[in-house]
Amino acid sequence: MGWLADLDRGFLDLCFPRDCAVTQATMDDEPLRHLSPAGIDLLPRILDPRCLSCGHPFEGILEGDRACPHCLDLRPAFGRAVCAFRARGSARRIVHRIKYERCPFLADDLAAAAVEDEVFRRHLAGSVLVPVPLHAARRRDRGYNQAERIAERLASLIPGCRAEALLRKQHETVSQTRLGRQERRKNVAGAFAVAQGRSVDPATRYVVIDDVLTTGATLHACAIALRQAGAELVDAAALCHG
Ligand SMILES: [Zn+2]
Repeated sequence: MGWLADLDRGFLDLCFPRDCAVTQATMDDEPLRHLSPAGIDLLPRILDPRCLSCGHPFEGILEGDRACPHCLDLRPAFGRAVCAFRARGSARRIVHRIKYERCPFLADDLAAAAVEDEVFRRHLAGSVLVPVPLHAARRRDRGYNQAERIAERLASLIPGCRAEALLRKQHETVSQTRLGRQERRKNVAGAFAVAQGRSVDPATRYVVIDDVLTTGATLHACAIALRQAGAELVDAAALCHG
């Protein structure tokens, strides 16, 4: 199959010359198809110290263990969330292209760039990665679920991981983008459940995966669904925070 993949890649590159999604520089033989090493260096990566609850970087000195303003009023059903990048600048633009401009392939490269960070990689290692589901109608319209694609790519890169689409979205919810913190939580409360015929293992660690963590409301609602089905070890991760 190797020669076929090479042929396919060569054909695609002929039709759609590759350039880096960050620097726009033409790419040739770089390991990733749409993110150059220079582009990855320019992504707004989150480094320690960061909030042990939502993963937002700590800026300035904060006191107490619940002092992070980004998750102050959230008592998350997940233990810890880790995010690789701030949802700013080039990272924000890439996520927008993944979700709204039919560029799911960028999710593969952003996920690969995310695991270059050891904290992010270790957070996922050995776990079952559970993508935040889209409602079936939305999934049909978009043609893919970006969180699923991200979870699958992460699982292929991190030893001992596997992706399992355990959850389903029971009803459509209005877009979270214009909602405040409380409204977001109400909007997604009860929206997720473990899919029929699927079960969870109390001894397995699950990490709910999304493209972006904003207030944590969606990941929280997914974690509740897993816990209600019997999961005891539930954490979360997103490529971007913002
Ligand atoms: Zn936080």
